[in-house]
Amino acid sequence: MPLPKAELHLHIEGTLEPELAFALAARNGVELPYADTEALREAYRFEDLQSFLNLYYELMAVLRTEQDFADLADAYLARAAAQGVRHAEIFFDPQAHLARGVAMGTVVEGLWRALGRSEERHGVSTRLIMCFLRDESAESALATLEAARPYLDRITGVGLDSAEVGHPPVKFREVYDAAAALGLRRVAHAGEEGPPEYVTEALDVLGVERVDHGLRCMEDPALVERLVRDRVPLTLCPLSNVRLRAVDTLADHPLPAMLDAGLLCTVNSDDPAYFGGYADDNFAAVGTVLGLSRDRLRELARNSFLASFLEDDEDRRARYLAEVDAYEFGDTVA
Ligand SMILES: [Zn+2]
Repeated sequence: MPLPKAELHLHIEGTLEPELAFALAARNGVELPYADTEALREAYRFEDLQSFLNLYYELMAVLRTEQDFADLADAYLARAAAQGVRHAEIFFDPQAHLARGVAMGTVVEGLWRALGRSEERHGVSTRLIMCFLRDESAESALATLEAARPYLDRITGVGLDSAEVGHPPVKFREVYDAAAALGLRRVAHAGEEGPPEYVTEALDVLGVERVDHGLRCMEDPALVERLVRDRVPLTLCPLSNVRLRAVDTLADHPLPAMLDAGLLCTVNSDDPAYFGGYADDNFAAVGTVLGLSRDRLRELARNSFLASFLEDDEDRRARYLAEVDAYEFGDTVA
């Protein structure tokens, strides 16, 4: 049984495995330019951000109906549960679907079909976080928030993702202010490929409570000090960082130094179908390659629950933390 954990940085569209992509393509009469699942799996072995994004958006064409989104989320939740995930805060990218003519209600209600049954079916509690694409305009983000208004009872917070460089957080000040006024929690990708100043800006201008990635904070000692002091969680994605070349190899990952610095780090899978592993695969990789002790792995698991948006259910958070404390590592685990 894997270490119990929360997953806080997970794009649901990034969980689309080749088998499900083909099944949905067949169901919807969508032609995929790949001979079979093996050929598609080969395409998943891209080497850089742009080829990843091209494939990521290309494959979204198979997601058309509520049932498609439900099947996608249900497949993720089953895999996550098998990897010890007890709570998942799931990102989705509505603009990528609205642009294809798929309505907000189709996306949210479809995901909810799976999320609403997740505890009963998989033993995984969930939250939904709606992300804005930062390479789209500020006006588009505002229109997206407006389109989401009828579904806000399903949505816990907002985030910011896609290509970071050249799209600083300040561009989204207005939509984050509007989201805050609606009572939504706020997170943002920052400091993955963008500079540490983007992390500072996300905190100061967008009021984010959690930073997604954030690993380049290590270039700014004053920022590290602030993140430690204010206990701002960082949602790191080690295998993703390797695939997208944020680090050269996993052995070069700053996670051990970040933990030593006192940062509240968590380990997550980002787009696991594409990046070579789900939540516990990331834990196993950092345990093995970075030589993290069992105490460190337990700390990462504790952090994931401390950083999760469970303020409306503190009893649950306490139960999860007790599970982490009681966990006994098997001999085969790092
Ligand atoms: Zn991400």
